[in-house]
Amino acid sequence: MSPMRAPVLVGRDDLPDRVTIWEVGARDGLQNESTVIDTATKVELIDRLAAAGLPVVEATSFVRPDRVPQLADAPAVMAGITRVDGVRYPALVPNDRGLEAAIAAGVTEVAVFASATDTFAQRNLGRPMADQMAMFAPVVARARVHGLPVRGYVSMCFGDPWEGAVDPAQVVDVCAELLDAGCTSLSLGDTIGVATPGHVTSLVDRLVRTGVGLDLVGVHFHDTYGQALANTLAALLYGVTTVDSSVGGLGGCPFAESATGNLATEDLVWMLDGLGVETGVDLEALVATSLWMAGQLGRPPVSRVVQALGG
Ligand code: MG
Repeated sequence: MSPMRAPVLVGRDDLPDRVTIWEVGARDGLQNESTVIDTATKVELIDRLAAAGLPVVEATSFVRPDRVPQLADAPAVMAGITRVDGVRYPALVPNDRGLEAAIAAGVTEVAVFASATDTFAQRNLGRPMADQMAMFAPVVARARVHGLPVRGYVSMCFGDPWEGAVDPAQVVDVCAELLDAGCTSLSLGDTIGVATPGHVTSLVDRLVRTGVGLDLVGVHFHDTYGQALANTLAALLYGVTTVDSSVGGLGGCPFAESATGNLATEDLVWMLDGLGVETGVDLEALVATSLWMAGQLGRPPVSRVVQALGG
């Protein structure tokens, strides 16, 4: 049993002073759980994440209840949480109906979910990649009319389980389309976890060279191949300051084979604490939240930090 509850702080001068952790566990994580979690548990999870200091807690998704039954209680979740000043609670909206429901539920920030590959667009959105913006553009425009910031998720940015390697030009094109449609930020998703650090730097650099501000770029890594933290560090060294992660490493992707967990928030916070990069997150409170959630799910968290600290 290690007596160390926190890493030794040794900073570097080539990293951002502060990183915004975009916590996706309550949405991306729970969406992929096969057992339905009750609304009260989701509300408690979100409230605990906000109390642990996470600045962005993605709360739910206003999708068709028959398509993702786990998230059928989105309005009840939004009504149940205790909103903390300064904490953002975005929700995913796939279409106009979802957006209307989200606004009615008091959501003040939304996200759409695009694909960088044709096959995933077909499987996840039921249409070719070329047609996805026809689906999103009106939703994004309408959200902007309501004054809501809109995040554009781009999935399969580094590899696709059906198509293999993904042409970076395709990713950059989808990002441009999302921004043209009115999205206010992006999240580059390594949905199946195959990226490596040089690939990350190269893609972000390519995007920035098209004129996209680094402040608009978030990264979303999966740890399928054990690369998520290395890829995160590569992105931070390039100047990215928004990183997606999931409490306990919850989540995968229901429409993508071989996709396992998101980067665990605890593992990210341990690294950033050691580097002296500010996150505002209380690691002990986060670990306690992960252990509590693991109890709800009936299995241990995949986060290595939770395993190390939680025993
Ligand atoms: Mg994910």
